Amino acid sequence: MGQHLKSKKLNNVCYEIRGPVLQRANELEEEGHRILKLNIGNPAPFGFNAPDEIIQDVIRMLPDSEGYSDSKGLYSARKAIMQECQKIGIPGVGVNDIYLGNGASELISMATQALLNQGDEVLIPAPDYPLWTAVVSLSGATPVHYICEEDNGWQPSIDDIVSKITPNTKAIVIINPNNPTGAVYSREMLEQLVAIAEAHELVVFADEIYSKILFDDAVHIPIGSLKADILCLTFNGLSKAYRLAGFRSGWLIVSGAKDRAADYIEGLNILSSMRLCANVPAQHAIQTALGGYQSINELILPGGRLLEQRDLAHKMLNEIPGVSCTKPAGAIYMFPRLDPEVYPVRDDEQLVLDLLNQEKILLVQGSGFNWHEPDHLRIVFLPNKIDLADAIERFANFLGSYRKQ
Ligand code: PLP
Repeated sequence: MGQHLKSKKLNNVCYEIRGPVLQRANELEEEGHRILKLNIGNPAPFGFNAPDEIIQDVIRMLPDSEGYSDSKGLYSARKAIMQECQKIGIPGVGVNDIYLGNGASELISMATQALLNQGDEVLIPAPDYPLWTAVVSLSGATPVHYICEEDNGWQPSIDDIVSKITPNTKAIVIINPNNPTGAVYSREMLEQLVAIAEAHELVVFADEIYSKILFDDAVHIPIGSLKADILCLTFNGLSKAYRLAGFRSGWLIVSGAKDRAADYIEGLNILSSMRLCANVPAQHAIQTALGGYQSINELILPGGRLLEQRDLAHKMLNEIPGVSCTKPAGAIYMFPRLDPEVYPVRDDEQLVLDLLNQEKILLVQGSGFNWHEPDHLRIVFLPNKIDLADAIERFANFLGSYRKQ
């Protein structure tokens, strides 16, 4: 019996960010080693604490959080998100177009499950945040990866996207600011993407969870704010900018061509009802988060801790011979390249495992982000400057053993 218990639906589903390498890291921790975890975008453990006013409000509201809420979520929280939509320019969004979830992750899973059938195709960036490829595979549809070009600041290749559209293409995923590359897309780029979606009647899945983590003069343009006749589903939440990943609090905004999507919206409503509602105490955090003091700005403006860490990591990585790294304009990750002429890596998971065993530093291999060559890694720049510098120095020393002789 034991051999075939797992559903075949899971055959092509993987999520390497919490894959076998993390299991090895956990084993090492149990043996008493200290592991520097640069593998997960989880701000709070690195001293990026959530704003206290949010925590205090949730504590105050806890006695009122005992019951289920409406399946879509608390009215007050959805009203705050509706007002946020007005502020950032996503038109025509009412409280009923908003769904709250246990993190954006749950809603990403619901939105794909409600849309897709076997044989459908979904355009997903490469590299991607691998949840997208996983949920599309789980839904029975086929993920089709479009290339983002490193030598063009990791912007999506429009030619590649166009060449991969078929009559079965049903949706396109746009992650902006991007995980793992840190790219932020220009208005021109977004306009080209929505023009393609409009021409081919593709649903747009806009993953904008890093929309408030921007560096230098980067500006985030919500896709839902662009004038186009498309159905747009925008995902965001409290995990990153508000450092509340553990609360599991995210939202989905449905905007644009809703009138042509009544049956899909009905499907979303069914899935939303089936899981009853999102965690209610965490829903209480949303109104204060969006309406309160935006402390993220202190971290990303000049002198801000996150900005300084980005600059340090970027400089140090680029100083390693044979390593190059685009400067992220947003989010909390870097996706450096190991020149195959210098480091002829054949198995990037093995490289990451060797780094873990030798230096007790945990990264994620590029192939875990559906990157097609074993020549990239993702590093999270959340640790303080001392730990970050130490980690990158040790990484550089380690790489020496991988150099072509
Ligand atoms: N989308 C992207 C691009 C992410 O990087 C993450 C988390 O790392 C998520 C979605 C999931 O966020 P949540 O914590 O709201 O489920």
